[in-house]
Order: sequence, then structure tokens, then C-alpha cells
Amino acid sequence: MMFLEGLLRFVPGVVGKAESVLHDSFTGSFVDHPEFTEPVNWKGHQVPDVIRSGNHGALKEWRQQQAARRTVLSHFRWLRESNSTQEEKKLVQACIPPHYVVLMHDQVMVGGAEKKEGTTSVTSIDVHDIARSSRTYGIKNYFVVTPLTDQQKIVEKLLNFWQTDIGIEYNPERHEALKRVRLASCLDDVIEQIKKNEGTPPLLVTTSAKRGKEENSITYHDQSCVWKSESPVVLLFGTGRGLSDSVMQKADYVLIPVEGFSDFNHLSVRSAVAIILDRWLGTNPKNRN
Ligand code: SAM
Repeated sequence: MMFLEGLLRFVPGVVGKAESVLHDSFTGSFVDHPEFTEPVNWKGHQVPDVIRSGNHGALKEWRQQQAARRTVLSHFRWLRESNSTQEEKKLVQACIPPHYVVLMHDQVMVGGAEKKEGTTSVTSIDVHDIARSSRTYGIKNYFVVTPLTDQQKIVEKLLNFWQTDIGIEYNPERHEALKRVRLASCLDDVIEQIKKNEGTPPLLVTTSAKRGKEENSITYHDQSCVWKSESPVVLLFGTGRGLSDSVMQKADYVLIPVEGFSDFNHLSVRSAVAIILDRWLGTNPKNRN
């Protein structure tokens, strides 16, 4: 009967309002919005005021937001495979908790055979390329972390140039990407700044080319388990020989490594950021339009 009902709904005239069929789950980009009936309060579950307000504009907006939220939290894999409109993309973005990217030049492993925790030098290509990837995938800010003042000066000089009139005119897209880059002296300062911006501390998600045995390990299909808490999310990347144990131990979640069908997976950090952002936040429609 469910199967028949599902099919017959598409026959014109079977459902009173054709519009109802249009926002059925899995018809467009979003699943259907929640429906309510009497009584107004059932075992502590209250019908939202907007439903009973008689304000059709507000109700339509609320339903769209609810549909987007349900889809993001429970059907993200399916959502990213559909072709969303710009308007739908905006609704989706509003439902995904704010994401930040952090590139560590501190608390990373350095050295050859005998590795130890240390610091690394900044590279302009990482500042540029990761800023562009971050902007593409809706990252709120990209933090470059270095405790070394001479290294901070290099990053400051680069960032300042792209905020000048000459920089903006020379390449407006690059300016647009780089204006969200922030400099920080240590990871704790980043966490503090995000907490101040968002009113709640972020969840830390670390990345590594090495497969760990951590119980908090997650895959690129586990967005909903991270997003359900509605906390801001920090994606942490290393330089040198990778993030040190002191950072890995702080992680709320550890993403499994990016791998292909080969025995090598040591990516440059800018490639790892681009791939991971795409796997975590990217759209991947099945149809061309
Ligand atoms: N000097 C190198 C460079 O040019 O980028 C730095 C390598 S550093 C160890 C690379 C960082 O990129 C890692 O700490 C990790 O954050 C990320 N990364 C590299 N390969 C990865 C992989 N296969 N899976 C997940 N993250 C990876």
C-alpha cells in the first residue's frame, strides 16, 4: 500500500494540491518539512507557534529551514548528490555549523630518523592555496599558527598586501580568499578566539596520513555525528612530519587518512586540505543540471 501510495501521488488529481507532491521527501534537494496536527501539546511536544500564527510568509520560510536542517543532519550524502539551487545552498550553509581550518606550524613533528616536536617555517603557497580552498568550501576563517615572530611578520606582510588597493585591483578573487586568513601564535589562542566568536568552544577534528587506532576515529560519511552537537568545527592540519601527539590527544575526532588505490598517501598539506574539504563539505551532483 505504501508503494502504491508513493506512486499514485504522482498521478495528477490523486493528491488535491499538486504542490504537496513537489516537496515530498527525495523529490527536490530536501526531504519534506515536519507536519503537525492536534492536540497543540502532546506529551510535552508542542506545535511550534509559527504553525498556528497564520503568517504564511513566516511559515513558508520556517518550513524551508526545517527541511534543509533535516536533510543536512540526516541525509547529507544524498543532498550533496543532488543539484541544489543557489537559494537552497544558502539554506544548507545556514544549517551546517561554522567550520574553521587551522594549519599548524607549531606542535608538529620535525627531524629525520629521530623525530621530535617542534616548529616549521610558513610557506606562501600554503597561505594562498588553502585560503582559496577554504573560501570555496565556506570555511569561516583559516588560521595559520606560528609562535615565531619572524614567521608571523612574513604572513602579515603577505596578508596586508592583499588588503591594499593594489592587491585588490590586481586580483580581486585572491583578495576575497585571503581576507579570511588569520594569524595566531598557538592553538589555544585559536580555540579561545573561536569560542569568543561563536559563544561555544569548537570541536577539534585532526587529520593525518597515518591510520590510527583511535576510538574517536571518523570517516568522511560521519558529518551528522559531528554536526548534531551544533558546535563550531575546527579541521586541523599539520606541517613538517605531521601533527604531534600533544595535538592529536586534544582531538574530539580523528579523520581517517585520505587514500587512493596505491601504497603511498603522503600528500602535501594543501592537497590534503582540498581533498578533505571536498569530501567533508563538497557537492558532487550525479546529474549535469
Ligand atoms: N612539507 C609537507 C608539505 O609540503 O605539505 C608537509 C606534510 S604534512 C605531514 C601534511 C599534513 O597534511 C598532515 O599533517 C595532514 O594534516 C595532511 N595530510 C597529508 N597526507 C594526508 C592523508 N593522506 N590523509 C589525511 N591528511 C593528510
